[in-house]
Amino acid sequence: RLEDNEIFHQVGQQLDELLIVYIFDSAWFRGSSPRHEAPTLGQYRCQFILDSLHALNQRLKAYEQRIVILCGDPLEEIDRLITQHDITHILRSQTVGLHENRQWQTLKQQHPKVQCDQTFTHTLWHYDDLPFALSELPKHFTSFRKQLETLSLRKPLAQPSYLPLALDHTPSIELVLPINQHLPNDSLSENSGWHKGGEPAAHEHIQRYFSSSAPSHYKETRNALEGQTLSSKWSAWLSHGNLSPIQLMQQLKQYEQNHGANDSTYWLFFELLWREYFQWYALAHGKHVFTARGLNKAPVRCCFYPERFKRWSQGATPYPLVNALMNQLNATGYMSNRGRQIAASCLIYDLGIDWRYGAKYFEEKLIDYDVASNWGNWQYIAGVGADPRGGRHFDLAKQTQQYDPKREFILRWQGNAHADEPLDSLDAADWPIL
Ligand code: FAD
Repeated sequence: RLEDNEIFHQVGQQLDELLIVYIFDSAWFRGSSPRHEAPTLGQYRCQFILDSLHALNQRLKAYEQRIVILCGDPLEEIDRLITQHDITHILRSQTVGLHENRQWQTLKQQHPKVQCDQTFTHTLWHYDDLPFALSELPKHFTSFRKQLETLSLRKPLAQPSYLPLALDHTPSIELVLPINQHLPNDSLSENSGWHKGGEPAAHEHIQRYFSSSAPSHYKETRNALEGQTLSSKWSAWLSHGNLSPIQLMQQLKQYEQNHGANDSTYWLFFELLWREYFQWYALAHGKHVFTARGLNKAPVRCCFYPERFKRWSQGATPYPLVNALMNQLNATGYMSNRGRQIAASCLIYDLGIDWRYGAKYFEEKLIDYDVASNWGNWQYIAGVGADPRGGRHFDLAKQTQQYDPKREFILRWQGNAHADEPLDSLDAADWPIL
């Protein structure tokens, strides 16, 4: 995005010439191990990113700039650019992802003469604003929230008034992504409430959202399994940086001034605080965010049942609500927060599968995938993260009764198709179950 993006202000002050680069890591299109043959980046999210880049390119024209899009190994690609153009500075938005931060460290070691700077552009506060050191991040959300919710926020930055001259760079080969870039239908906008990636689409959405009365009812409607305005649908634009949480807070405060503050408007802030918590949590706990035992001291039981996992991911379990949710995710790239909790709880507690397989599957499928929110929430439900109650097991019958009493959601997403089939075709001794 151009607005509220400190990086673009910094480059204007520091550099004469500028090359703006986005690299699709070719590893995103491959499985990460023999067990994970699926790509990390699914088709819907890939499309959202392409739309975002296209929209940014359009906006950059006014600055006589453009974004160069590459696909490959990021370290090799950057190395090539540094050599080719004699690059002196590299600036990036600071991410909380472990892998990306390791790549950044390697880059700095390989190029000690290049000045590498990073800035937080996707959190409500910068690291220096926090009232504690990262090593003292509260173990639980409530204590984090109480320390931060009264902290003042920065004002969002306007778009830059000027950008340095564009460095002359012609990629040697045309970008071809190893993925089908044509989505099957309009299911995305119809079913998820998202239209397109990119800053203009994001602004259009928040304008529409704040000119409705939805923010005043959010707390009562947010847990619904489906419905365009029942939750905010900000997540994809936030995850991909099309919007900053600071911009959203400014809009929310404005809405409260015009229409009055209530529990619901506060709850939108409350949820942005959850997001914030998981960002700092991922940075603080590094590799532990991805280990089976997470923050637990003791080892945990972790199993993998290929058949059960396949059934869960394809919406073919004996549980209609879970099937409907997974069908919705596979068809649209979106699932509501309550839906994610139910599907995650089912994988962990009803199917007995290591939570990380579920997190990895969500990573591929979710349009709004965010490393901190995804893995942090999965850990929370699995009871190996920040949950003071040690995990959440949702009773599927009770959840169905509460959130889909007329079974309309199940019907719409064909959750009943496999409900009569047994969970396993083999018993514990590998004998077929007849
Ligand atoms: P709203 O209910 O309108 O919330 C407003 C905003 O607050 C969201 O856009 C989001 O930025 C933030 N938020 C709300 N709930 C949470 C939460 N529990 N944790 C962190 N932030 C929250 N969110 C992602 O953005 N990316 C993910 O990869 C992701 N994976 C998840 C995996 C699981 C197992 C679970 C239980 C939750 C996950 N979430 C994730 C959080 C949440 O489900 C989504 O942010 C939310 O459903 C998006 O819809 P919305 O924008 O309408 O949310």
